[in-house]
Amino acid sequence: MEIKILGAAREVGRSCIELCTKEFRALLDAGIKLEIAGPEYPVEISNIGLIDAVFLSHAHLDHSGALPLFFHRGLSCGVLCTAETALLTKLLLKDAHKIEVAEHHHPGYGKEDIRRVVSHIEKVRYNEKKKLKTVSYEFIDAGHIPGSSMVMLEVEGKRLLYTGDFNTVDTNLINGFKERLEADVMIIESTYGAEKHPNRDKEEEAFLNKIEEVVNAGGSVIIAAFAIGRAQEVLLMLQKRRFKVPIYMDGMAVKATDFILAHPVLLSKPKELEKAYNRINIVKGSRERKQVLNKQAIVITTSGMITGGPVIEYMKHIASRKDCALMMTGYQTIGSGGLQILETGFIDLDGERTKVECFYKKYVFSAHAGQQGLQWMIKTVRPKILIINHGQDYHCSALAQFANQYCKKVYVPRLGDVITV
Ligand SMILES: [Zn+2]
Ligand SMILES: [Zn+2]
Repeated sequence: MEIKILGAAREVGRSCIELCTKEFRALLDAGIKLEIAGPEYPVEISNIGLIDAVFLSHAHLDHSGALPLFFHRGLSCGVLCTAETALLTKLLLKDAHKIEVAEHHHPGYGKEDIRRVVSHIEKVRYNEKKKLKTVSYEFIDAGHIPGSSMVMLEVEGKRLLYTGDFNTVDTNLINGFKERLEADVMIIESTYGAEKHPNRDKEEEAFLNKIEEVVNAGGSVIIAAFAIGRAQEVLLMLQKRRFKVPIYMDGMAVKATDFILAHPVLLSKPKELEKAYNRINIVKGSRERKQVLNKQAIVITTSGMITGGPVIEYMKHIASRKDCALMMTGYQTIGSGGLQILETGFIDLDGERTKVECFYKKYVFSAHAGQQGLQWMIKTVRPKILIINHGQDYHCSALAQFANQYCKKVYVPRLGDVITV
């Protein structure tokens, strides 16, 4: 079989791999890379209408965001994913389209293409072996976000494991991946291939201490969080202290929390989240947002990488205020507003380069396996062939160096590479 690397090669974003045999063509994910200038798409796919299936690992846009454009260009096969991923993907695709239109990025597809994606979704359950043409497949809980999956395929007598994004550590929200799998070929993510995660409890402590400090000194705290998973995780953390100012939630995080609460099977402790959610205030629109901006508050909002959404409105208000704080709670990819702030101390607001004078810091509450988890995965699966993707160059290289002692062949492919196995 041929494995064509169409995205997420030495980068995080636009995950998309084409799997090709004589009788079968499939995509593993179809994501976009969110950049301030607009989304980047995977490498062009030839004869896209002849693809037999898309295996969608989870809802995050860096895995699902290219689907509407692909359907616009003629993709017409089933999109296989869990029921949770189906619902979350619909939510995120609609929101992404809204943001792209609002920011004049001319997305190249319309709402009807999102409907087309949704109508082609075929739901699968975890741990059920199914067959499609000559290929059998199974989705396995990846512990990354609700509904997230690894995909185990059997192609031409070889077992191929696509990890998608995964986490080996339990969080407040969901349980981590702990299964021991076997595969001949593994395509593994490498977001933190070169980085050990800090102790989660200590990180949480430092995060809450800083919020308390800023609030006690009279400032407001803006917490940028991914809508699905992280915003709820942050909400649960905040319940561990009593702050003297109100807590708000704004943007996609609200829709995502409503959705997650409506599907309590997604969570390890649904009651706790419901209780926490009932205690905070929801920002219902721009008028209310203005009122919140004029008060002292703690706001959980999106986007998590500060590339759009209400967090930008809050930044306009707090960027120049030394008494306020911007807390980043997730990975900041190259090209994101968050990374720009961390590296330069500036942010583009309304097209103007603005100095960020408030306190800002990234805290690591990752939904991705750290270096320890990635290495554990390689040691337990021990594939003959390992393909490393979904990580910046140095993360992929570090993981490759480790993997060399366990795998016969290790690839860190570049965009457009074709690997024959
Ligand atoms: Zn993800
Ligand atoms: Zn990802």
